[in-house]
Amino acid sequence: MGTLFRQFSPPPAAITSQINHSPTPSFFPTRKTHNKHSRKVTNHRIKTSKFGNFLDLAPECKPELLDFDLSWLNPSDRFHFDVVVIGTGPAGLRLAEQVSSHGIKVCCVDPSPLSVWPNNYGVWVDEFESIGLEDCLDKTWPMICVYINDHRTRYLDRPYGRVSRNKLKVKMMENCVKNGVKFHKAKVWEVNHQEFETSIICDDGKEFKASLVVDASGFTSPFIDYNKHRNHGYQIAHGILAEVESHPYDLDKMVLMDWRDTHLGNEPELRANNKKLPTFLYAMPFDSNLIFLEETSLVSRPVLSYMKIKRRMVARLRHLGIRVKRVIEDEKCLIPMGGPLPTMPQSLMAIGGTSGLVHPSTGYQVARTLALAPAVAGAIAECLGSTRMIRGRPLYHRVWNELWPIERKCSREFYSFGMETLLKLDLDGTRNFFNAFFDLDPYYWHGFLSSRLSFGELACLSLSLFEHASNSSRLDIVTKCPVPLVKMMGNLALEAI
Ligand SMILES: Cc1cc2nc3c(=O)[nH]c(=O)nc-3n(C[C@H](O)[C@H](O)[C@H](O)COP(=O)(O)OP(=O)(O)OC[C@H]3O[C@@H](n4cnc5c(N)ncnc54)[C@H](O)[C@@H]3O)c2cc1C
Repeated sequence: MGTLFRQFSPPPAAITSQINHSPTPSFFPTRKTHNKHSRKVTNHRIKTSKFGNFLDLAPECKPELLDFDLSWLNPSDRFHFDVVVIGTGPAGLRLAEQVSSHGIKVCCVDPSPLSVWPNNYGVWVDEFESIGLEDCLDKTWPMICVYINDHRTRYLDRPYGRVSRNKLKVKMMENCVKNGVKFHKAKVWEVNHQEFETSIICDDGKEFKASLVVDASGFTSPFIDYNKHRNHGYQIAHGILAEVESHPYDLDKMVLMDWRDTHLGNEPELRANNKKLPTFLYAMPFDSNLIFLEETSLVSRPVLSYMKIKRRMVARLRHLGIRVKRVIEDEKCLIPMGGPLPTMPQSLMAIGGTSGLVHPSTGYQVARTLALAPAVAGAIAECLGSTRMIRGRPLYHRVWNELWPIERKCSREFYSFGMETLLKLDLDGTRNFFNAFFDLDPYYWHGFLSSRLSFGELACLSLSLFEHASNSSRLDIVTKCPVPLVKMMGNLALEAI
């Protein structure tokens, strides 16, 4: 696939991608039919005006439960399993689905297994196609666009999609139920390890025992051990799914990044701050009146203030002439990025947000976890399956090593180096960086964003990036990269030992 680069150019007339341009997603509340899997929409609007902008509007969707017949654990059942999974987010359910497909006895514990997932997930369509989940996208765009600045817009033909949270969750729950997975509604309070098994204690007093407990409870898990200081960066963003009078974006392009800052022309303080710690707009236009808008700080340390993000978003929407009529949903996004991996091996296995799988330079995680879970499940089945009874330390060693083989750890060091570099760039540096990045051969930029490049390929990417970079960008690289580079080399040397 070729990368199209234009200056002030109109959108390309012919789009080469064959992906279907799917209709407006089913949650839009003007639909007449009631989708039992969608979130409940109340029709009230806030009339009073505190801010005089979209921040006055309360989100109309209230969290709701999926209408699904789950296989609950009975009080009379034995609370002893091969595998217990803590959490039924995308990572936990995927692992439960995959492990149970090998005939392993699995139980999932979550305070609300039927809750609609709260986050809006965006993924590259090819990532979901490669794992056979393309039917779980409720909207696709054949192209993305990146506004580098007011004079440069890049159109890139890599299809992007929005995950249908409910379709994906229901699909995985259906498979779990078919494979005999049990579900228990509770919060895990305590995890205790013995030599060959682990027990968990829940807030309802129930105790479970399992040969392997997998923590899929997200970024804030208190159960996973780290033996290094957790110096991660943060992605922070404020997003709204909104009904608007109009918006200026093309309907066939997802806006991956809009780095323009003219909206801050009348706000010198905000503009100066944005020059140092830039934010961009991420936008998914569903139709001419329905759009998901998210003002995003790619990565900051310490984390950029949430209020600043909202103020910048207000100024941006005003400048773009986007008048919000209704806020259907909102989301506060806070994703820890980079930092050390969990101690390995440890008696508690991890998957998803708590396992270090978040891309340190982008915050993406969902597609990668869904893709890696089958191999991790295979390793678990190899140890706990009927013919082989490998438990305790050899089991932990085998499964952690499946998730984080040395090659993947080295690549992650490189992605963390990318994050450390981004942390040092101001607005101009960031713009120059992405301008050069999207000039790369698509194999490299696709692979980088999807975490699928080997360490050798990442080294080639760096050389190519340097070649494509402008002189000021090269200067940035030469002056700002040495410290992160030395850190990365040190970490790689430690891995090698
Ligand atoms: C707002 C937002 C938007 C994001 N958007 C994207 C995106 O577009 N693309 C992408 O790739 N990534 C995205 N991410 C990053 C990441 O993919 C998500 O955070 C993803 O939800 C992580 O999945 P998970 O299954 O690991 O954890 P979670 O989705 O956080 O699920 C954890 C589950 O564990 C349960 N749990 C927590 N504590 C306990 C306990 N003690 N006992 C039992 N259960 C417990 C919770 O109730 C929850 O159900 C986003 C993150 C956020 C916050």
